[in-house]
Amino acid sequence: MAGQVQAPNTCSTTPTCRENGETTQWGKVAIRSLSCKRGTGMKVISRTADPTELSIPHRSRLYRLKPIGAKTPLVESMTGYVGRLAEAYDVPVQVLFRNELGPLLARPQLYTANHAASFLRSTGHAINGKDHLAHDTILALDTLLGGYDLHLHTLTMCAWADAISSHDLVRAIRAWCPVCYQTWLEAGQTLYEPLLWAVTVVTVCPVHNQYLKTFSTS
Ligand SMILES: [Zn+2]
Repeated sequence: MAGQVQAPNTCSTTPTCRENGETTQWGKVAIRSLSCKRGTGMKVISRTADPTELSIPHRSRLYRLKPIGAKTPLVESMTGYVGRLAEAYDVPVQVLFRNELGPLLARPQLYTANHAASFLRSTGHAINGKDHLAHDTILALDTLLGGYDLHLHTLTMCAWADAISSHDLVRAIRAWCPVCYQTWLEAGQTLYEPLLWAVTVVTVCPVHNQYLKTFSTS
């Protein structure tokens, strides 16, 4: 790691007294940070460790946004998560799909802006489900976000793949509980879309015992 040491030798008035990359008893010298205090009788050297010895954490392609409500009944939905990820980059969801997810999903219909928008309108809700599009989206995001520790499969119905039918499993339109939104807003919490709201058979908020709103009924 970078550090700063004071070399206890006599003053040298030229910065060439140590060559860039030279190994000293204090480590390798970085020439850009080497300086010399003229007349102080003391030389200040910044040293860096050997770059080959540095442990650099893996960098993910995209920002590793943490899902909300992980490991709770109100875990976030995949559509809501992708929407928040796009919002973090200040781009529309279709742009995120077209430029990042689309190539990994190997779906040519996502490669143009118009097709990406129509594809998401007609099929986007399926990423909350348990079929191939949900599986492919999880794998693509795992690749882009680097690693599996975000447990993105829990944002879909894939965990229920062997227990329930995929027929009419998730809604094609949004549903929400206005009381949940109001509560989170007043508490200063991030607004999000629980996976539960996307499940077709769920019509009542389990927290507030009120019917969910949808665009067709509100
Ligand atoms: Zn509610």
